[in-house]
Amino acid sequence: MRSRIYKHSTATRLKKSTITAIFLTTLSLPLIGTRNSSLAQDQSHPTYEVYALSYGVYPDFPVSALLAGADKTRKIDLQMMIWLIKGPGGKNILVDTGCYHENVVKGKGIRNLIKASDAIAKLGLSAADITDVIITHMHWDHADGMDLFPNAKIWIQKDEYSYYTGAAWQAGGKSGGIEPDDVLTLVKLNTAHKVSLVDGDDREIIDGIKVYTGGRHTFASQYVSVRTASGTVVIASDNMYLYENLEKHAPIAQTFDAESNLKAQDRMKQIASRPDLIVPGHDPMVFVKFPKPGNGVARIQ
Ligand SMILES: [Zn+2]
Repeated sequence: MRSRIYKHSTATRLKKSTITAIFLTTLSLPLIGTRNSSLAQDQSHPTYEVYALSYGVYPDFPVSALLAGADKTRKIDLQMMIWLIKGPGGKNILVDTGCYHENVVKGKGIRNLIKASDAIAKLGLSAADITDVIITHMHWDHADGMDLFPNAKIWIQKDEYSYYTGAAWQAGGKSGGIEPDDVLTLVKLNTAHKVSLVDGDDREIIDGIKVYTGGRHTFASQYVSVRTASGTVVIASDNMYLYENLEKHAPIAQTFDAESNLKAQDRMKQIASRPDLIVPGHDPMVFVKFPKPGNGVARIQ
């Protein structure tokens, strides 16, 4: 996979240098206007591979809890997922961390549950190989595995951190879906200088990887865009639970602000290079649309 990307980059570089030479020698013009072209991006910035990884299935989940206005009798086998962004130079960025602590998973009936650190082993990686973890939001099924990755820097929205370590637990606060132990873990990681608080929307936290707010699944949930060889991929996480949210233009059922959520979904369509490069948070169809390489691993491309 990597060698193919290098070949691609080399080819692009050759093409680019030819174009540059033509511009400079025959037209004497600087390279104005090419900055945003895919050629320029390929040459000067890294691209990444994006994988969805299954870590379990939550059976018989009501669709009406995912899709606003859905038939209350409909049920779905909810796909539990994390996402790996694999970059050049040993950069391995995990988006969300699943769940595994006994007190968190007990009684939930999740089938084929594996730890996030075991899910990444399917791509030949161990927990120590993860350089960065982007937490989209603090719900138990996304943040509970945060303590599995000893070398990772944790990226989370500053407002998400503030709210769930504070106001969420005060009168009038909303702490549904948040595990108190996960909050303690996050605070401990912060005191160990392992947390980077992202201050707001549209932030490029790593070259080619941006985070966005406005989905309002939780207080300050974020979604992620990634530059890949196939274009820009958007990892929506629970800011868009299912493909059906996008198709029916329906907000997610669990949100602080349905209007803001819909706007965020509309914006994802602007950010992603193709609509099918938007990856929802819990849709089993991800592994049908992207069947390769298989065995609970889907390469998004
Ligand atoms: Zn979730």
